Amino acid sequence: MQRDLTNSIKEKAYNLGFSLVGISPVGDYPESQHYKKWLNKGYEASMDYMSKNEEKRQDVRNLVPGARSVISCAINYNTNYPYSTSVQNPKKGWIARYAWGDDYHFVLKEKLNELKVYLSENSGGGEDDRVYVDTGPVLERMYAKYSGIGWIGKNTCLINQEIGSWLLIGELITTIELEYDTQAAERCGTCTKCIDSCPTDAITSPYVLDSSKCISFLTIENKAGIPREYREPTGNNIFGCDICQDVCPWNGESETGTEKAFLPREGLFEPELKTLAGLDQQQFSQLFKNSPIKRSKRRGLLRNVLVAIGNSGDDSYENQVLELLGDEEPLVRKHAVWALYKINGVKYTDIFKNMFNVEHDEEVLEEIKLVLKMV
Ligand code: SF4
Ligand code: SF4
Repeated sequence: MQRDLTNSIKEKAYNLGFSLVGISPVGDYPESQHYKKWLNKGYEASMDYMSKNEEKRQDVRNLVPGARSVISCAINYNTNYPYSTSVQNPKKGWIARYAWGDDYHFVLKEKLNELKVYLSENSGGGEDDRVYVDTGPVLERMYAKYSGIGWIGKNTCLINQEIGSWLLIGELITTIELEYDTQAAERCGTCTKCIDSCPTDAITSPYVLDSSKCISFLTIENKAGIPREYREPTGNNIFGCDICQDVCPWNGESETGTEKAFLPREGLFEPELKTLAGLDQQQFSQLFKNSPIKRSKRRGLLRNVLVAIGNSGDDSYENQVLELLGDEEPLVRKHAVWALYKINGVKYTDIFKNMFNVEHDEEVLEEIKLVLKMV
């Protein structure tokens, strides 16, 4: 009975478009202790939600009472577009591969909800089952690992031997007992490519990521300015970063997925910095409707775009950056000051000085003082 049900739920998951599915029993695994140590080091940066709901994160039975099994499902979001490490065009932006199309939370949740209904109809139970896609206190990669669909690489991504690491994961936590898979073998071996290639040294040791240094955090979850020491290493990454996945040998010839929702929207593969820097609120909302990029808000995206413009050193952006010095958002003005300094600081010394005559937030004034010291 369990075997038939397990096989049919897996078949259903594949039919729904998932690339991988595996099942593990619920439990308090050693990784939850690693997670605590990681938090103790402050590596979650300003993502305070990561330190909340400790008991639930430690054991999903505190989240879903009576839970017995976690069905981990992953979808391959790779497309046949080049990697950031192979195009390297500093005059254009780079958006992390997962964010080119629709928001994966919706795509995966819809499929998982259908899977939940299927399981309930075919098992006669499962009323309390729950679906999560990066939204609850669940150690998702840990369960994916114990369900056998991949190992957690030194870059902290889930990697599957056949597909690589272009995987988005979600899970159905169920009260139903099923047949369980065995965990996948660890296959990083002696490789350290991801660690060596990270521009900000965010992978402090194998399997350990300091979010406060990671470009993905700095350009997405971080609501403040990009710290000065990370602006140049951020390069042209304007929403997330793919480098530690691009260099991973397991992604060398990884196959592409079939989910059309993850194909790039027009203009989002190597986007024009000029177009993005010129977005007003209405255009931003329209362009990024149902897109993960909505998360950074216009001010966060423009902050990142200005860092990329500064790093491009291209003076054809001057007029646009000058305009952004008067943007309503202090975060944007602050990074416009830095971008202009990087493009041609000496030329704009008087403009920086004149900015003291206008009322600005402390963080903008601080930025101006700093660039005036450097020109
Ligand atoms: Fe480093 Fe980028 Fe990977 Fe973050 S995403 S660890 S910044 S290479
Ligand atoms: Fe593992 Fe090498 Fe891939 Fe890093 S680059 S995750 S060390 S295989």
